[in-house]
Amino acid sequence: MSCPPNAPALGTTPTARSRSGSQLGCVPYAPLFQNPLLEEPLAANAPADVRRRRAALVRRAQDVCGACPLVAPCLYRAVVEHDVAGYVGATTQRQRAEIRQRLGVVVEPEDLDTLAGVTGRHRQIDHDEVVRLRSANPHESLETLAHRLGCSLSTVKRHLRRERSHPSATTADTAAPTIAQVMAAAAVVGGPGRRQSAA
Ligand code: SF4
Repeated sequence: MSCPPNAPALGTTPTARSRSGSQLGCVPYAPLFQNPLLEEPLAANAPADVRRRRAALVRRAQDVCGACPLVAPCLYRAVVEHDVAGYVGATTQRQRAEIRQRLGVVVEPEDLDTLAGVTGRHRQIDHDEVVRLRSANPHESLETLAHRLGCSLSTVKRHLRRERSHPSATTADTAAPTIAQVMAAAAVVGGPGRRQSAA
């Protein structure tokens, strides 16, 4: 998967351009980042030639990310805000899971609504807003709630599932890690600046 849905950078977008007008980030490298071998974690029983091919792809993507000025905010968002597939912010999906584990970060896997960054009505849905409206209107149907929020029923259900598994009251006390902490954890698992395995 290329970085547009995967790696929204803080305060910018992966389609940003440099002052000279050239595209930044992985936009020009879509075929590389969208290669199925890079998008999915390697199966435990993957044959040696597949491992070698993936390792080569990881090295190429790592070089692209390593030269990208968005790598720190891109990685931060892919670790702390969006659990997405593929190679993002100089890390594989498995490495980002390790980083979250080290930092105690819990992020729900993305669904298609979130991957697109918008709802069907082109508005991002705030998790707290969903929970607050549900609490205020416990007898209202979820369809009505989705209508109020201007999002899909599946988005409402996803946020309510997330709230059940990780209630806001308990997670609110946990401060989000800093970019420096994410980068430090990433360095330990082979993230930006380190040569990586094909995991
Ligand atoms: S760090 Fe990598 S994945 Fe993120 S925008 Fe840059 S090139 Fe794309």
